[in-house]
Amino acid sequence: LLQMVRPLEVLGSAMRDLSRSLRLSQPLLEILREEIEGAAILTATVSPGQPSGRPSRQPSTIRFEGVTFGYDPERPVIRGLDLHVEAGRTIAVVGPSGSGKSSLIRLLLRLYSPQAGRILLDGNPIDMLALGALRRQMALVPQDTPLLHASIGSNIALGRPGAGMDSIVSAAKAARLHEAIESWPDGYGTMVGERGLKLSGGERQRLAIARALLRRPTVLLLDEPTSMLDSKTEAEVLVELRQAAAGCTTLVVAHRLSTVMRADEIIVLVDGRIHERGLHADLLARDGRYARMWRQQIDGAS
Ligand code: ATP
Repeated sequence: LLQMVRPLEVLGSAMRDLSRSLRLSQPLLEILREEIEGAAILTATVSPGQPSGRPSRQPSTIRFEGVTFGYDPERPVIRGLDLHVEAGRTIAVVGPSGSGKSSLIRLLLRLYSPQAGRILLDGNPIDMLALGALRRQMALVPQDTPLLHASIGSNIALGRPGAGMDSIVSAAKAARLHEAIESWPDGYGTMVGERGLKLSGGERQRLAIARALLRRPTVLLLDEPTSMLDSKTEAEVLVELRQAAAGCTTLVVAHRLSTVMRADEIIVLVDGRIHERGLHADLLARDGRYARMWRQQIDGAS
């Protein structure tokens, strides 16, 4: 029990620091809190003989049915969206800036609710699920990674408080963060955050990925997961993310088409509506908007 309580105490005080610093938006703080509380409940129910961690879970199905949503109800950013993601599949959402991609993730996390239509997880409307139970199933790699003023190890452990050092290290390895951590003065004990070591954008992103991998979710939500990485690290991290995603249903939002090209389905969102959908090769053959975006990126890269 002590082993479980101590990291939670540390995280609790780090969380208070964090709230005070107000550098995190309230919804993100809420997600983090849910994650900590959720994981505490799960680790607490593991009997002593069992390996700590959570029971293995099946990936979830996700369904959007006629979803319309606007931050201002007068100005919808998602318009009558129908989308079905089968368990264990990876769906990628691309499209111009402001087309509503990240809003889909926020709706799934129930940070906001649609004005019309509904969202189902494993056939259950998400607004019927307890918020904690819903968010416990999900891991989010956000565009901005919240950082606690705590050791890098505790920061990774936020994905699953109570996780053993072995799992923390293997998550860091998978996220290609381990080598950097080893080179820091106190290794996994190195303090990061406001008064600690300043992480680069790419390191923060890898931290977020390590957290998510440690969490073993049924739904993995990736919001521009590799935007800050160079293309070599991106390729390495993508291999790991694909392996991690094999056990969950994944929704990835990205501008870089290299991140999405292997998805089981690609959705091109324009003005909150599905403009095109299909596999990478089919969309290229169709020679529409996706093909145009692809050509622009290839030209931009050369
Ligand atoms: P990007 O690729 O630039 O991240 P996106 O496709 O993910 O864009 P969203 O973040 O889903 O777009 O935003 C869709 C629209 O909703 C945008 O016009 C954005 O300005 C607006 N918006 C996003 N968040 C809020 C908010 N909290 N309040 C009001 N409007 C918002």
